[in-house]
Amino acid sequence: SSKDGGRGRWTFYDPQMDEARETRNLLELDLRAAIARGEIEVVYQPVVDAKTFALVSVEALARWNRRGHGPVSPDVFIPIAEASGLIDQLGLCVLRRALFQLSQWPELKLSVNVSPGQFRDPAFVDRVAEVFDEAGIEPGRVVMEMTETYFIQSPDRARQALERLKGLGLRIALDDFGAGFSSVGYLRQFGFDRMKIDRSLVQSLDRGHRAVEMLQATVALARSLGIPVTAEGVETEQQAVILRIAGCDQLQGYLFGRPQSPEDIAALMVRPMELRAKAAELAFAAS
Ligand code: C2E
Ligand code: MG
Ligand code: MG
Ligand code: MG
Repeated sequence: SSKDGGRGRWTFYDPQMDEARETRNLLELDLRAAIARGEIEVVYQPVVDAKTFALVSVEALARWNRRGHGPVSPDVFIPIAEASGLIDQLGLCVLRRALFQLSQWPELKLSVNVSPGQFRDPAFVDRVAEVFDEAGIEPGRVVMEMTETYFIQSPDRARQALERLKGLGLRIALDDFGAGFSSVGYLRQFGFDRMKIDRSLVQSLDRGHRAVEMLQATVALARSLGIPVTAEGVETEQQAVILRIAGCDQLQGYLFGRPQSPEDIAALMVRPMELRAKAAELAFAAS
């Protein structure tokens, strides 16, 4: 751009770059408006017991149906929310809705995702405590999922933040394990209560026994530290069998259900038979 040129560097005018920036700015504006209007929806993905396939928990996932455009992926709008400071508001919206839902599902637990940026607000933990009070939810029923980035970038602050959340009674999971650089050592170092294996690792199981052995070793290591393991992105029965035998106590993925509306989750609770039947089949396949 001309600004860079003004500083004496040669740059090319790239209309595509301007276009990308403009698209992003428009997205940010629309996202801000959508949050203000309460248009961020929350869907819930089933998490099942690895042995019985009974529904034990749900993960809350944000959804944005952008006016005049249609659905925007969280992989697009979450980073925009993080970069623009909107993540504070968005995160609390999602938490408030999800806790309200949870109050109607006394038999379930809940996971919600937290971005590092949310800790920038010094009042974050107090706000979280307020939302729990309003909803009348016992914090022990909720797991907050965090990816490794925060722990790599600012380990000291991350440890403090985590301790404060745990002080409220919340549990903390290391999300997307295996997608980046996180090591099992982090689990102990930061006091995580659960590990979630990324779907890329789960999907690598299809490539053969080396991948299976690596995963078995990882799960065994976590379990030797007393940390339970959830596998994400489970799409096939074969993956489910391997993961259960490896020692995962919870499974999540399209095999058991996509992220869905509260009504559909409620329906799953009244007729859990399909899942039970699948569990029986799997037990047979594994024997
Ligand atoms: P995540 O927390 O790791 O959530 C799991 C993602 O994997 C979800 O994508 C889910 O739809 C997808 N998934 C689950 N099972 C399967 C499967 O069997 N196959 C495949 N191909 N995909 C599966 P989604 O909903 O698009 O969310 C993407 C990411 O956006 C999340 O990854 C999370 O990091 C972030 N995110 C979503 N909602 C929120 C939120 O409320 N707050 C924050 N901070 N981040 C959020
Ligand atoms: Mg997650
Ligand atoms: Mg994940
Ligand atoms: Mg993720």
